[in-house]
Amino acid sequence: MTTSVVKALQEVRDPITGTDVIAAGLVRGLTVRDGRVGFVIEADDRPPRDLEPLRAAAEAAARTVPGVTRVTAVTTAHDPAPSGAPRAAPKPPSGHGKIDLGDVAAVLAVASGKGGVGKSTVAVNLACALARGGKKVGLLDADVYGPSTPIMMGLTDAKPQRMADETIAPPEAYGVKVMSMGFLVDAEQAMIWRGPMVMGALGQLLADVAWAPLDVLVIDLPPGTGDAQLTLAQRAPLTAALIVSTPQQVALADVRRGVNMFRKVNVPILGIIENMSGWTDPDTGKTSAPFGRGGAKMAADALGAPFLGAIPLDPDLAAASDAGTPPAACAPESAIGLRFLEIADLVGAGLARPLSKAGPRIVVN
Ligand code: ADP
Repeated sequence: MTTSVVKALQEVRDPITGTDVIAAGLVRGLTVRDGRVGFVIEADDRPPRDLEPLRAAAEAAARTVPGVTRVTAVTTAHDPAPSGAPRAAPKPPSGHGKIDLGDVAAVLAVASGKGGVGKSTVAVNLACALARGGKKVGLLDADVYGPSTPIMMGLTDAKPQRMADETIAPPEAYGVKVMSMGFLVDAEQAMIWRGPMVMGALGQLLADVAWAPLDVLVIDLPPGTGDAQLTLAQRAPLTAALIVSTPQQVALADVRRGVNMFRKVNVPILGIIENMSGWTDPDTGKTSAPFGRGGAKMAADALGAPFLGAIPLDPDLAAASDAGTPPAACAPESAIGLRFLEIADLVGAGLARPLSKAGPRIVVN
């Protein structure tokens, strides 16, 4: 089926080069699986806006191929050529360098060595807590394969709006501007995306969304510390990073991987947060620690990174996440709500200080 899709795309002519979009090298990252087709329309010298008619034509052409059930095409660009009229901020991705977000004072990445440690839960509640503290906050859910922010922020029915100036207005909840692939593409469809498509789409979510003006943009990175995370850490203009870890002793290895990833791209570590740290039975008041306790703190100490606090294992937190009512916004006086507000204060103070790019020193005992 790939051959038929390529043939169909060869019928789409690029008006600038006069050749078809395949010969012009505009189609990248083509994937065909189970009738689902995905690709990026990308040009080194044209802004995504100019590529939109080609993207639409290529998508329509691919859809005519028998057996194709769904087509997803996104546009992205490198080094956009300056056009006559000034472009409304924010600017499109430029080169393989940093994406310019305009008036966004700080960009904070929330990362974890692996999935399921509560990274999204922390990112969501932190964003809400920072907004509660009076900051203008944005939250970008960069987890293309498992976006959970729309649910956690109570925005399952929200749809981003395209504005007259071609920027995207992000939905808002609890005073936070939110953008997630979950608003745009269903998870099953995104599963077939490969690296270039993911990066293209995330680049657009950074560059084409009307984030500014913001005090802080929180980016909930995909779990893990592989190439995708590294590329994103390179392209987003990160001010600092937070690493979320569970308390097991093995957390050290996970935290170290995260720290090393950000060191590679020269992003300072603002701190380590331990999640699912101990559990207090509300009936007996007894505390237990099913995942152990203190592993992330030990990792932070060993790596010379600040420890920002521990969040207990709390079934109410999981329920609130599923219900789209983050405690940092909806129950700020609860113990868990207060914990997030405390951590947000430390984060706010950390961002206000000049951050050392040297990264923490690894101490070997
Ligand atoms: P990640 O982003 O690291 O994959 P999530 O934030 O999606 O993790 O959390 C995974 C699951 O764990 C979710 O169901 C979430 O509600 C739950 N969870 C996260 N933190 C806690 C906590 N402190 N107590 C109880 N459940 C939690």
